[in-house]
Amino acid sequence: MSHTYDVVVVGCGPAGSLAGYVLAKKGLSVAMLDKAVFPRKKLCGGLLTWKSMLTLEQVYGETPESLTRAGIIDFVADRYSIAHLDKVLVSGQAAYPFHLVDREAFDLHLLQKAVAAGAVHYADTIATGCIPETGVVTTATGKAYLGRMVIGADGVNSVIRQSLSIHKQSWRNNLASTIEIAVPRSRCPRQVDFPELYTGFIKAGYCWAFPNKENVILGICGLTRKERNIKALFQEFLASWGLTEYSDISFLGHPLPYGNFLREPAYENALLAGDAAGFVEPLFGEGLFYAMRTGLYAAQAAHAAIVDNADPRRAYLEPLKKYIFPEFVWSNRLRWFLMYTLTYFSRFSLQVFVGSHKGLLAEMVHGTRSYRHLRKKEWDQVVRP
Ligand SMILES: Cc1cc2nc3c(=O)[nH]c(=O)nc-3n(C[C@H](O)[C@H](O)[C@H](O)COP(=O)(O)OP(=O)(O)OC[C@H]3O[C@@H](n4cnc5c(N)ncnc54)[C@H](O)[C@@H]3O)c2cc1C
Repeated sequence: MSHTYDVVVVGCGPAGSLAGYVLAKKGLSVAMLDKAVFPRKKLCGGLLTWKSMLTLEQVYGETPESLTRAGIIDFVADRYSIAHLDKVLVSGQAAYPFHLVDREAFDLHLLQKAVAAGAVHYADTIATGCIPETGVVTTATGKAYLGRMVIGADGVNSVIRQSLSIHKQSWRNNLASTIEIAVPRSRCPRQVDFPELYTGFIKAGYCWAFPNKENVILGICGLTRKERNIKALFQEFLASWGLTEYSDISFLGHPLPYGNFLREPAYENALLAGDAAGFVEPLFGEGLFYAMRTGLYAAQAAHAAIVDNADPRRAYLEPLKKYIFPEFVWSNRLRWFLMYTLTYFSRFSLQVFVGSHKGLLAEMVHGTRSYRHLRKKEWDQVVRP
């Protein structure tokens, strides 16, 4: 039996839910499949930058106040620090605060918005493949969903990506491993009130400590091919915090795209958005903004294909090339520059770099400046759907 829609969206994380919302608001029929039942857990630091908040405002009219009232924003911090091992290299005030969300609540909120706009949500539905020429999405129960367009937003291990005949480049080569734990504040040797990043514990990656209301989130991320035993490195990071007894706290891991974004995330009637296409910034691992923004662009391209008979690939690649790819290319360059600097020179060279670019680095992360030569960055206007 098959169900027919204008668009079938696979995956209801931020990329899929935002795409589903925009398409449903524009009057198209949308099916949204997810293997999970929401609310569902998603391993993530939950840090939203200025450009993420801009996207939420542009698309949904959400503000920090409305998201706080809805219980989505869990913590707000206007400071940050970058350290090498236990030595703080830079600590400063950001021009705009970092908002930290609980992913369980955040993802449910965005999914509910899509459903309220008219999208049909199918929970507990595992997609097993896609035929991009016909728009058929097959599922584990044998049911098929037919869309004039398919948006694959099914995360880093995307089955939709694996179904498409697209050049996968070095997907595994630039995949990172991550581990994260949530330490209750009462058990954490040190309180954390703003995002802290750490270099030096891992060669091709970094560690972090993020605050939320109840816990301190400690994590590590590193290129899988460069790091043999990421768990042992993480334990060294925890030991540096004076944390030695954590046998009852779960270590959770999840792969993260880390420089393996696809330049061709489109094939026939299928488009890939978010982690499914590797759309994560390759230096700091920011993915939420890129998931939402590429979900938006994919929805706009699918709409243009269905309503105006436009070429979906061209319509999708245009904003990606203009706004997204340059950020990834330049943040990737900066990443290798900083990693080589640390490997072949001392931490003092890193200290000089981050110290001399202090305020600008925070603006770059927030997205008011580009990773490209730290120029002022303009994002596109979005007509609220
Ligand atoms: C440890 C860690 C910390 C991070 N911290 C941050 C941070 O602080 N800030 C930030 O901006 N980014 C962070 N990220 C990155 C961010 O979490 C991701 O980039 C973001 O979740 C991508 O959203 P998405 O919608 O593309 O995919 P996801 O959020 O992964 O959603 C994919 C959805 O697809 C569903 N799915 C998967 N397979 C199938 C299938 N076969 N059939 C049906 N459904 C399927 C899943 O159930 C899921 O709901 C972090 C990532 C990790 C691993």
